Amino acid sequence: MDIHEYQAKEILAKFGVPVPRGGLANSPEQAAYRARELGGKAWVVKAQVHAGGRGAAGGVKLCRSVDEVQTFAAGLFGKLLVTKQTDANGKGVYRLWVEGASEIAQEIYLGFVLDRKSERIMIVASAQGGMEIEDLAENAPDSLRRMTIDPAVGLSEFQARELAFSLGLKGGQIAQMVSILRACYRAYRDLDAVMVEINPLVITGTGDLVALDAKMSFDTNALFRRPEVAELRDRSQEDPRESTAGDHGLAYVGLDGDIGCIINGAGLAMATMDMIKLAGGEPANFLDIGGGASPERVVRAFRTVLADANVSVILVNIFAGINRCDWVAEGVVQAYREVGLTLPVVVRLAGTNVEGGKRIIQASGLPLISADTLAEAAAAAVAARPRNAA
Ligand code: ADP
Ligand code: MG
Repeated sequence: MDIHEYQAKEILAKFGVPVPRGGLANSPEQAAYRARELGGKAWVVKAQVHAGGRGAAGGVKLCRSVDEVQTFAAGLFGKLLVTKQTDANGKGVYRLWVEGASEIAQEIYLGFVLDRKSERIMIVASAQGGMEIEDLAENAPDSLRRMTIDPAVGLSEFQARELAFSLGLKGGQIAQMVSILRACYRAYRDLDAVMVEINPLVITGTGDLVALDAKMSFDTNALFRRPEVAELRDRSQEDPRESTAGDHGLAYVGLDGDIGCIINGAGLAMATMDMIKLAGGEPANFLDIGGGASPERVVRAFRTVLADANVSVILVNIFAGINRCDWVAEGVVQAYREVGLTLPVVVRLAGTNVEGGKRIIQASGLPLISADTLAEAAAAAVAARPRNAA
């Protein structure tokens, strides 16, 4: 789960990371009010969306008067911001963060990620911040410093110091960096984060380190024990298809094609995506109904997949172990009738009670397309697309 920049800054500040003073605004008028309240001569107004690359996309602006703050905020508020990290639809701007402008002498990149290879938290840093990490990896790979943290020891002082030196920091900056690194590590570990990123961490005109941007993501499987994190969720930033499915206990992933997929198990979903592509099609989504799916659950799955207007065919692929093919078949038939389906539906059932399942499909008299293997099912789904049929 992602959170907003201002929320990440608030969390990191509690752990001891220095951040600029700022305030949240839910309207352009409030943005102007915040600027006046903060005082000073220059402010940065920042769109709060769950995506980076806002600066380059016009979502961040340095303003030199309160009027400029309000005008910029008015142009941004309620709009969809498209950045390099969003899809073509962008993300809605409903919250603005106004903070005092910092003088920037240097921008540093700092990230904490989970390194699956070493099974440890890894720090990635570069003295050439400001750019996104992907661009850094491509344009300045030699500037990247990496360091893994032993979970039994934690981030030791000497490791943090070594990293600070390798970034070319000097004097009092070393101690500041050590304290920032340790604060980020503690925030990551104590809150079950999967990512903490400060880009840029700047050296100001007076030589001090300040986090001008912050990003945090959290392990959704751990949210049950982090209520203070769970409550930071902002549904306006999520794919509505995915959040609605999640509410019903269904795992849904939205994609860009037109074949809707109802499957049990993530592994089978991956295989099905591959087979659809191999057959020349594009999946619109996949919905994992999980184990032990009742007919009602299958009906709900159909409704969720159909909520995507791009879907022109539905492929049901069930390999029943814990599941039972006859229940799934009942669900398919029920969904067909209840939802008033008009789209072609391809059904491939295998495993527990497969004979019973096939009988139900046949006896229904509905125009369901049956397939025995995954390859046949994928090919049938591609062939059944209206644009192919036409
Ligand atoms: P994003 O990463 O989404 O583009 P950032 O918060 O990193 O958004 O802002 C983009 C750029 O704007 C930063 O790299 C920095 O140069 C500048 N910036 C951001 N906040 C401030 C600030 N408080 N004072 C001065 N410059 C800022
Ligand atoms: Mg940034």
